[in-house]
Amino acid sequence: MRVVIVGGGFAGVACAKRLANESGVRVDLIDRAGYHQFQPLLYQVATAELTSEDIRFDLCRLFRDSPNVTVRKAVVAAVDPQARTVTLDDGQVLAADHLVLAAGAQPNFFNTPGAAEHAFPLYSVDDAQAVRGRILTILEDVKQRPELVEQGALNFVIVGGGPTGVETAGALGELIHDVLPHAYRGLPLDRAQVILVDAGPALLTAFSAQAGGYAATQLRKRGVELRQNTSVKQIDPDQVTLSDGEVIKTRLVVWGGGEKAAAVAATGGLPTGHGGRVTVGGDLTVPGFPHVYALGDVANIPSGDEPALPQLGSVAQQSGRWAADNILAEARGKTPHPFHYRDKGIMAMIGRKAAIAEVGAHRHEIHGDFAFAAWLGVHMQLLDSIGAQLKAYAAWAQEFYLRPDHRSAELLEPSRVDSPRIDWDQKG
Ligand SMILES: Cc1cc2nc3c(=O)[nH]c(=O)nc-3n(C[C@H](O)[C@H](O)[C@H](O)COP(=O)(O)OP(=O)(O)OC[C@H]3O[C@@H](n4cnc5c(N)ncnc54)[C@H](O)[C@@H]3O)c2cc1C
Repeated sequence: MRVVIVGGGFAGVACAKRLANESGVRVDLIDRAGYHQFQPLLYQVATAELTSEDIRFDLCRLFRDSPNVTVRKAVVAAVDPQARTVTLDDGQVLAADHLVLAAGAQPNFFNTPGAAEHAFPLYSVDDAQAVRGRILTILEDVKQRPELVEQGALNFVIVGGGPTGVETAGALGELIHDVLPHAYRGLPLDRAQVILVDAGPALLTAFSAQAGGYAATQLRKRGVELRQNTSVKQIDPDQVTLSDGEVIKTRLVVWGGGEKAAAVAATGGLPTGHGGRVTVGGDLTVPGFPHVYALGDVANIPSGDEPALPQLGSVAQQSGRWAADNILAEARGKTPHPFHYRDKGIMAMIGRKAAIAEVGAHRHEIHGDFAFAAWLGVHMQLLDSIGAQLKAYAAWAQEFYLRPDHRSAELLEPSRVDSPRIDWDQKG
């Protein structure tokens, strides 16, 4: 039996791991990057807390003891769910008995003019590296030419008040106010601004209103300015225009404003719904296409009365394992079971000692130190489950907690990040 899995994120890796070393099963795990990207820690790379190497895990290495799993570094250009084949961008076609789509998400710019060209999304290790490179390039340029501050060089705009935007804004606030004054003495950092723009009236809407209020307070404590009930109308190379007419001069706009399914979901006539995500039934297969599964962020996975579970690492991981079990059940002539999600809660970190967690069946809400500890624990579990060595994470957590104003020189070294130069004469 041949299983082809598209995507080596949480869902694809969990599915392949479950099928690894099963006799009679051959797995092709295809990923365009060739490594697993641990998205929950992307913003730590973007804000110079971790290196790229700390959050990317080579898929060949992950499956080196599983001879029945072949890892292929390749882009899947299209799927044919009827024929159960995938076509790679070099034209090669792979056929499967069971096809698993686990290609994740991509940023959704909602047709905002200039966003695709000038904003910095945060969905991959390369994205995170690009944000860090841009921050360090700006700082180096301002060191040489302090007058650039007048052009808004030290204004950093974050779009989106969901977890990605809130976590990035909090981390950037701490970087600017706690760390950079030691690393970049003499820079006019008192003139730096981190501005979070969100179209809605509240932050972190997946959480309670109280949690949103806590997040707003914690962000303000870290020097973040909030522009709520305001959307981004246009992004130019040197500025952002907001819906209320305000124009903010800036050279870094981080986009956490939304996501949609990976491009491959739109191929092969797959049924799609909200966010362009593939529609699946209770057993995670695509209606009308037996033996074709869609998992994690690329799918709308129904659960109870909910039309779709949220885009979370735990949903992706559990759906990956479940799909593998269903594939094995089908191979034994048994009926696949409907997916049952074990909800462990949701959490977000705003900064050191400031996190929010809603845990347990009744969504008990905790803030502050305990939530911070829960956040660290859950991420450690997620890392462990993809076979990561936990040393780097443990070292980061300890340093982050005990030495908030310190970063290793390597993380703040511009020459370590290959970032394009900024054309300061380019105007919108
Ligand atoms: C900034 C950020 C922070 C987050 N923080 C948290 C958090 O704290 N906790 C939490 O639970 N969740 C968090 N999430 C969400 C979580 O990371 C996702 O829900 C999870 O990664 C989804 O897993 P997946 O396997 O479906 O997709 P992904 O992890 O996105 O993996 C998809 C894979 O498919 C590959 N791929 C895509 N298209 C193709 C193609 N055409 N051909 C070949 N390969 C392809 C990609 O390279 C990628 O490796 C965060 C997400 C982001 C972006």
